[in-house]
Amino acid sequence: MTGARSGVPAVVCAPLAVERAALARAVRPLPVLRTGKGPARSLASAERPAVRDRPLVVAGLAGAVADGLQPGDLVIGTELRTGSSPPIPLPAAPLVAGALRRAGLPVQLGPIASTDRIVHGSARAPLAADGVLAVDMESAQLAGAAGEHPVLVLRAVVDTPRHPLLRPGTAGRGLRALANLRAAAPVLTDWQQALGARRVVLASPRSFCAGVARAIEIVERALDRYPGPVYVRRQIVHNAHVVRELEQRGARFVMELSEVPPNSWVVLAAHGVPPEVHAEAAERNLQVIDATCPLVTKVHNEVRRYAARGDTVFLIGHADHEEVVGSQGQAPDQVIVVGDVAEAESVRPADPDRVAYAMQTTLAVDEAEQIADALRARFPRLTAPARDDICYATTNRQRAIRTIAAETDLVLVVGSANSSNSLRLVEVAEREGTPAYLVEDAGEVDLRWLAGVERIGISAGASAPPHLVDELVAALAGLGPVDLHTRDVVDEHLQFSLPREVS
Ligand code: SF4
Repeated sequence: MTGARSGVPAVVCAPLAVERAALARAVRPLPVLRTGKGPARSLASAERPAVRDRPLVVAGLAGAVADGLQPGDLVIGTELRTGSSPPIPLPAAPLVAGALRRAGLPVQLGPIASTDRIVHGSARAPLAADGVLAVDMESAQLAGAAGEHPVLVLRAVVDTPRHPLLRPGTAGRGLRALANLRAAAPVLTDWQQALGARRVVLASPRSFCAGVARAIEIVERALDRYPGPVYVRRQIVHNAHVVRELEQRGARFVMELSEVPPNSWVVLAAHGVPPEVHAEAAERNLQVIDATCPLVTKVHNEVRRYAARGDTVFLIGHADHEEVVGSQGQAPDQVIVVGDVAEAESVRPADPDRVAYAMQTTLAVDEAEQIADALRARFPRLTAPARDDICYATTNRQRAIRTIAAETDLVLVVGSANSSNSLRLVEVAEREGTPAYLVEDAGEVDLRWLAGVERIGISAGASAPPHLVDELVAALAGLGPVDLHTRDVVDEHLQFSLPREVS
């Protein structure tokens, strides 16, 4: 075990006296050692008993080699590079960078190179071309001292390609960098408190469902197949990473069809749309590929069928959610959205004997059933859907997270804040009595949540890419050894066929 819970105290290595002075008071009770400038002094310091075999922070000033960094910016190293040895990975970097960003500090995340001499002028360019953000002359040499213990490298930029050393203003830029280094100190103590060995339990199933995988594949295939821009109305699925990754491949996201030039290809999102969106697309001569999940289409069909026979349809769900807007739009004059038990107890249909209900697919199963029970108690002739509207993916992920919540001290759910099924996973875990948080990615995990926590459960909403879970586990492993388990609760094999435009 490492760090605060292991009893092995961390140490902060500051190569220069000014760096030590900036940090010494601010990071108490962490000790700050002056380790000396340059590789030779760093290697010598790495042999000191106060530095060897313990969690290490290397903190100090650096030169930026990449464009886009400004004097004063903080760089958290994701790996350390030297000319001669394999890179040293620093997997906890996203956790620390996220904490610094939330503290309002300018921070970038990327490789740091430890060089033999100060890098000037054109020597910066090849390093930048290799993806290096900043250079120093000590971090890699000091990092070796930590052995198996976690290492964190925090550097504040003094000089950049546009602001070289020994030019007017260097002193002021140095002071700005030292001030930001000092301001980062509370995060270093949070990092120290979060260190330790852990058991991590992954819920299975988690992450992409069949409807989300299909929607993403539809956009990818449309981008490959059709010349010219491919537009997507609204977020294809409720996940910021998915949208960003598709944007990088060329997809153009719009809020409304009025933003799409006539005759263009446009993909409609997985949550479904009301009929007027299809009508508008036809008016504008748009080539539509409908990525509505087939399980949402099933709800649309139910709503239309009930409405066609004259029923009032209670749509159990959240009125402002895009899926509910689409389902309500199938029969707007006959659908009443019911958001909770209180609304179920007060709703007034035109004819209490001609009523049916349908549900949003991503609700919490237990809460939705309470609402349906309240409706059934008031309307004995209420028609229920022939098969559950809450989809298999929502149900399975809720079952899985309930299982892991019961055996862990903290649950992290990867997903976006506008993802209904991800939010419900957090609530289900909390109802099991386990603190739970929704995080977009590892960078949103607050180090303070991890202090003293030895068992962490992880799941991901149906719209969250699996690689985000892998990155979160890797980041936690950067705080100490992780004993990783997967709790398989349900096997999922469902796949949906693609629409003919992309099949
Ligand atoms: S969560 Fe369910 S309804 Fe929504 S896209 Fe996935 S499978 Fe379809």
